[in-house]
Amino acid sequence: MAADRVTPAKIRCDACPVMCFIADGKIGACDRYANHGGDLVRLDALTIIENTSHKLVPFLKDSKPEDWDGNIVQGDRPFVTAVGAGTTYPDYKPAPFIVSQEIDGVDMVTVVTEGIFSYCGVKVKIDTDRHIGHERDVVRVNGEPIGHVMTSEYGSKMLSLGGVEHLTGGTKKEGRVTCDALLRLCNREPVEMIVGEEDHQTSVVVEAGKPPLVNGVEEKLMRVGCGSATIGMFPKQWVGHVDDVVVVDDHITGVLSEHQTGKELNVAPTGIKIKGRRSTPGRYFQVAQPGTGWGGTDIEDPLTILGPFNPKIAWEGLTLLMVSTTGEQYGYFVLDGDLVPQPAEIPARLKASADLIAENCEPSVCSVLFMGGAGGSLRAGVTENPVRLTRSVKDSLTFVSCGGAESYVWPGGGITVMVDVMDMPTGSFGYVPTPALVAPIEFTMRVADYGTLGGHMDEIKKVAAIVSPETRKIAQRDSQPDPMDRTNYRWAKERG
Ligand code: SF4
Repeated sequence: MAADRVTPAKIRCDACPVMCFIADGKIGACDRYANHGGDLVRLDALTIIENTSHKLVPFLKDSKPEDWDGNIVQGDRPFVTAVGAGTTYPDYKPAPFIVSQEIDGVDMVTVVTEGIFSYCGVKVKIDTDRHIGHERDVVRVNGEPIGHVMTSEYGSKMLSLGGVEHLTGGTKKEGRVTCDALLRLCNREPVEMIVGEEDHQTSVVVEAGKPPLVNGVEEKLMRVGCGSATIGMFPKQWVGHVDDVVVVDDHITGVLSEHQTGKELNVAPTGIKIKGRRSTPGRYFQVAQPGTGWGGTDIEDPLTILGPFNPKIAWEGLTLLMVSTTGEQYGYFVLDGDLVPQPAEIPARLKASADLIAENCEPSVCSVLFMGGAGGSLRAGVTENPVRLTRSVKDSLTFVSCGGAESYVWPGGGITVMVDVMDMPTGSFGYVPTPALVAPIEFTMRVADYGTLGGHMDEIKKVAAIVSPETRKIAQRDSQPDPMDRTNYRWAKERG
C-alpha cells in the first residue's frame, strides 16, 4: 500500500544562507554537504597537521585516511585546521570545532571554522617582464569582469581579483564567474583571463606556483633587475671587451658609458643616442611602448631605440652590446664607416655575459594570495563579544592561521587576512552559491585568554575527541610556524 511506502525525507542544511533541502544520497548546491541516511555530512575530511617534535617535512598531499594508525601521539601536538571542518550559520552559533590541548604546560585552544567570505579576493603576482596590460585595465574571465591590473612591482605584474564589488555588485553571472575563478585560483588550478580592452588584449593563464602563459607562451625568467641595475651588476663582464652596453628595459633602460658605473670604471663616451626620456646619466625612461618584446617593450629590433651616434665622439669600429633584462635577447653591433650599427657575430665572452644575466634570473612563477575579512559572522562563532577577538589578534594574544598557514593580518580595524595559497593544504577552498568563497580560518590562543574575550567555553573539546580514523593527516610544512608555538604570542615574549 502506498501508505506503507516511506519516502526518505529531505533534510535541511543550515551551514550557509542558501539552506538547501537535500534528499537522501544527494549533495547540496556547494558540493560540500550531503544527506547520508538522514545525517548531514561534511564531505571533505577534517584536516589535521601533525607536528612531530618540530620535524620539518613537506605536506603529505596524498595522505589517505587508511594511512592513519589511530595513534594520536604520532603527532605530538596535532593542529586541527579548518579544512573540512564545516560552517555554522547563522552567526551566533559557536564554531564547528573549539579544540584544546596542553602545549608545553600551557592550555591552548584553537577555534576552527570554514568561513564564508563575501568580502574576499586574491592578489596575484606574475613574475614577467612582458606587458600584460595597463594599470587599471579590466581582467575578464568568460567575458565577465573579475578584477583589474594593479601597480607593477619589481619584475612582476600585479592583479587584484574578486572582492565584494564583483561578487555581489554586478550581474548574477559576474558574481558566479568571479567566485568560480577565485575558487580555482585558490585551489591552485589554472585560470585563463583576458586583460585589457579590444584594442590591446592579452591572454594570461595564471596557476599558483607555476609559470604564467602570456598569449600562449610560457614565461621562463623573471628579470634580474631594471636596465640600470643590470648595468650596475655586471660591468666587469663588459669593460675592456666592448665599447658600450645598452640594457633594454620598458621602465629604466641603462647605458654603460653614461651610467655612474661606467664613469667609475673609466668607460669612454661613445656618442650613443637613446630615444626616450633621460632621467639621470645613463638611465632612460619610455624608450618604446610596453609590449611582449625586449625587456617588456614592444620592440623586437633593439636598434629602433637608438638615434644617430654623435659623429664628434663615435668612431668606425665602435662595438656595442644590446641585451634585455633577462639576458634572453641580445645583439652585438659594430659601427660602420657611416657610424651606423651593423649586426656582427657576438664574441663568446659577451655571449657569456648574457648567459650570466639569464643565470641570475629567478624562474618566473605566479603567486596567488587569498585575502579576506573575518567579519561579524565569523567572529561571533568564536566569541559572544566579537570586537574582543579583534583586539586579541591585534594584541598578539591570538594567532590567526588559514589551513594551518600563517596569515598576515592587516593593520587597522577588523581582521583582514592575507595568506599564500601554496602554504595551505590542497583543496582548502570551497564555495557557496550566494556567491561567496569558503576558506579555512583558525584562531589559536591560551584557554585563559579565550575565557577573557568571552569565548564559547562550554563548547571546548579535547583534541583526542576530534581526531578519528577518517581525519586527513598532513605534515607540518617547513616554511610555516607551528600555530601553537609560544613564540607567536606576546605573553611568551614578555616572560622572556
Ligand atoms: S550551499 Fe552547501 S553549505 Fe549552503 S546550505 Fe547548501 S549544502 Fe549547505
